[in-house]
Amino acid sequence: MNLFDLTGRVAVVTGANTGIGQGIAVALANAGASLVTVGRSSPEETRSLLPEGTRHHDIRADLSSTEPLAGIVDEVIAKMGRIDILVNNAGIIRRADAVDYSEADWDAVIDTNLKSLFFLSQAAGRAMIAQGSGKIINIASLLSFQGGIRIPAYTAAKSGVAGLTRLLACEWAAKGVNVNAIAPGYIETNNTTALREDEKRNADILGRIPAARWGQPSDMGGAAVFLASAASDYVNGVVLPVDGGWLAR
Ligand code: NAP
Repeated sequence: MNLFDLTGRVAVVTGANTGIGQGIAVALANAGASLVTVGRSSPEETRSLLPEGTRHHDIRADLSSTEPLAGIVDEVIAKMGRIDILVNNAGIIRRADAVDYSEADWDAVIDTNLKSLFFLSQAAGRAMIAQGSGKIINIASLLSFQGGIRIPAYTAAKSGVAGLTRLLACEWAAKGVNVNAIAPGYIETNNTTALREDEKRNADILGRIPAARWGQPSDMGGAAVFLASAASDYVNGVVLPVDGGWLAR
């Protein structure tokens, strides 16, 4: 038996049109999963990277509000028959010094990165509990462990994601639903363009990463397949850093 085989499983990945979500969606499909992408932009590039024959359905939704969330899970079940894996990946970042940080930026980041993550997990969790199995993978951050600078709402949201991951794991582990998180390190995506364009920040960051390189979205694939598969059936409430050793330093 291949512990990492996802054949026959239905995986939902939010924000899968680019970056980490794309890397995870492609890895899950390569492990055999059927895929539902959820986001506000076209996932055409991701679709082109899926292995031939992958069953794929796209749901266009703006996750900055809770309004579409219950309907997303209903649509997944109507189109695909079930929901086995949910990857809560969609997220935004807004940077400003704490003394200048606006309420609008605070609300936007908390609503997308924390509130929608919880209520989509709730909707998916209800279906998973009813079928007696499921895997929820939240995309946390190094800011689930550290303070950072100039990203107060992001740090609050990602610290909240780590806490929610543990709470949901405690409530749902005995019901067959595993809830865990991946904490990516510094990964080359749109989210980090500003950091990579700032020569000093880029050098400071690179100098601290033991692996001596920025991560790629594809670097998240192995951890995602592990947490989505039977290989992690007794893993609950973990926030797994995939960071080239950043937190070890
Ligand atoms: P990204 O390339 O900017 O991707 C973010 C994804 O979220 C995009 O697909 C984006 O869709 C989607 N999204 C944002 N707001 C949305 C909304 N209101 N409704 C629907 N979809 C929305 O950045 P990324 O680095 O891959 O980020 C993915 C996740 O990883 C985020 O949760 C981020 O916090 C986390 N993360 C990233 C890093 C890193 O170093 N890059 C490190 C730790 C954690 P659009 O393309 O339409 O905007």
